[in-house]
Amino acid sequence: MPPARPTILIIGAGFSGTATAVQLLRQAREPLDVVLLNESGRMARGLAYGTDSLEHVLNVPAGNMSALADDPDNFLRYCRWVDARWHAGSFVPRRIYGAYLESLLAAAESAAGPQGARLQRVVGRALRVRPPAGGLPAAVLLEDGRELRAEHIVLAFGHVAPEHPLDAATREQLGPAYTGDPWRQPLAECVPPDARVLLVGAGLTALDMLVSLDRAGHRGPVHLLSRRGLAPQPHRPQRERPAHPEVASVLAGAGPTLRAQLRALRQTIGAAVARGEDWRDWIGALRPHTPGWWRALGAADRRRFLRHLQPHWDTLRHRCAPEAHAVFERWRADGRLTLEAGRIVALQPAAGGGFALRWRPRGAVGLRERIVDHVVNCTAPSGRLAGSASPLVAALCADGLVVPDALGLGLLVDADYRVADAQGRTAPWLHYVGPLLKARDWEATAIPELRQHAAALVARLAVAGACRCA
Ligand SMILES: Cc1cc2nc3c(=O)[nH]c(=O)nc-3n(C[C@H](O)[C@H](O)[C@H](O)COP(=O)(O)OP(=O)(O)OC[C@H]3O[C@@H](n4cnc5c(N)ncnc54)[C@H](O)[C@@H]3O)c2cc1C
Repeated sequence: MPPARPTILIIGAGFSGTATAVQLLRQAREPLDVVLLNESGRMARGLAYGTDSLEHVLNVPAGNMSALADDPDNFLRYCRWVDARWHAGSFVPRRIYGAYLESLLAAAESAAGPQGARLQRVVGRALRVRPPAGGLPAAVLLEDGRELRAEHIVLAFGHVAPEHPLDAATREQLGPAYTGDPWRQPLAECVPPDARVLLVGAGLTALDMLVSLDRAGHRGPVHLLSRRGLAPQPHRPQRERPAHPEVASVLAGAGPTLRAQLRALRQTIGAAVARGEDWRDWIGALRPHTPGWWRALGAADRRRFLRHLQPHWDTLRHRCAPEAHAVFERWRADGRLTLEAGRIVALQPAAGGGFALRWRPRGAVGLRERIVDHVVNCTAPSGRLAGSASPLVAALCADGLVVPDALGLGLLVDADYRVADAQGRTAPWLHYVGPLLKARDWEATAIPELRQHAAALVARLAVAGACRCA
């Protein structure tokens, strides 16, 4: 007999977990308990929207940041309520987005009727998940010894912490001069204002850190070192919504190989730019097609893409706010910022103070040297589950409940968001939503995709009988 009031337990209250809870609260038409478990009491923030700095802005315009797939202007209305000057093209502070998510969750909670879903927020760190057994539902074991039971569990624990670009011995030598995870250790607290700073990586995290240093009045030089040395690309300042050029026919008309499709895209976009169109619109138009395109690629083409094209894709696709880009350009024009392509070879204490960085420029044989005082890991959050520092992820892998994909992008999840186990079987009670869907879809880390995944997951849960939804 199914319970009169089944429970869906969501592990993680970042965007993915919160958006799933909101959808359940809005749609459930029969009694349902929704338990939202988060390791800190700051619900509805997660890694991206927990920053308190006003200068850390969204890298997607407000008009495309609604948390609700069926209400595209939801966030825009919230923005206008906060500040009437904001428009669809504004890049608003990320902490405003966190406040928006929190208010959305609260509104969905109070609007849910007695015959619908009931929300329970639980603060605690999940350590292990136990499958249903002996007639009892699945269980989540918490660090403080509590055990929560639920008929369905949604894993929404988000990102895996970034991998270190330095080995353990070098990190130990650097001690406090190394910031391994800048989202957990605010830079202003650990970087002296005159320090020569090395940012490893040149993507959106590096840009956020530069903006923080700029805001804190940092005076020392900043060096960005990344595999390719590609400069971050800005969104254009925009008041209007972007155009949506027809890209499906270009992909359909090209051959099945990665090489043929890229050639066709490059020619089409080149011709469009020559006509005065903006290349950004074409990259944006690819988004809905990317999952199908990624799934159709063979293993060898996927590997080729990751080896040769990923840095270019990341730069063109994950663009920054024009405001953040202006800081980058100002520092570069002042000669206080350098951006170089290469790999770290060694970092050792220097005789005159600081650390001697020896690095190999991309394509060069010889090494170059530079003295730095502080190193910040600005490589992106990882999808590599093996070796994750999270006890929950380690336990899920060790228990064979989740399986990392072969390319280190995330975990194996089927079309219904059911997690695949070590034997490739899916369990009807264990689902996943979040950026590790990258393994399945490639394009899965930003809100416009994640809001659709949250809504689709709730629809699948309803089909699976976990809840009765509108
Ligand atoms: C710095 C940054 C800026 C971004 N900016 C944008 C942007 O402007 N626009 C955009 O579209 N996208 C942006 N993104 C991408 C996107 O919004 C995020 O990838 C998305 O928010 C992911 O949400 P999530 O809930 O899956 O993961 P997370 O945000 O990582 O949240 C996971 C939550 O689970 C909790 N948790 C983890 N493990 C446990 C456990 N064992 N027990 C209990 N709780 C646990 C964590 O504490 C956290 O609250 C950004 C990403 C980052 C990292």
